[in-house]
Amino acid sequence: MDGAPFDLALLDRDGTLNVRVPDGYVTRPDDLELLPGAAEAVGRLTRAGCRTVLVTNQRAIARGLMSRADLVAVHARLAGLLAGEGGRLDAIVVCPHGRDECGCRKPLDGLFREALRRAPWADARRCVMVGDMPSDLAPADHLGMRTERVGVDRPVDLVVSRLFGAAGR
Ligand SMILES: [Mg+2]
Ligand SMILES: [Zn+2]
Repeated sequence: MDGAPFDLALLDRDGTLNVRVPDGYVTRPDDLELLPGAAEAVGRLTRAGCRTVLVTNQRAIARGLMSRADLVAVHARLAGLLAGEGGRLDAIVVCPHGRDECGCRKPLDGLFREALRRAPWADARRCVMVGDMPSDLAPADHLGMRTERVGVDRPVDLVVSRLFGAAGR
């Protein structure tokens, strides 16, 4: 098939697409700062026809530090910044819960199952999860997805470039 290389590209948020707030949370749109290459990486996935899904723990909601409306506003800014490079988030799945309160807070797999439930045509073996923490990758690996870890020496645009192969596209 001449389609996308992945049915879904699942993306962690903090530390993968945007700068982590040390000892805190991104609670306001102005606090969101993209990491270098993040918009380009998502743009490349979008142009290649990959559906992208943001999978993110946001315990600040359970802790009363932000509202769901605040989170929507933060994600609107994220979408705007990504759109500057042609990137799009096709779905956003959030765990707003505290620790040990749910089945979706990573490293549990509820967010990943939800992403697959929303895309019944997707095959987990044709999905890739990109994140900065072992807790992002373990549940995806458990479901049969490919996993890629980003880090200071492995920014998300480099990871995505490698996913598309040395020849690029
Ligand atoms: Mg992260
Ligand atoms: Zn949860």
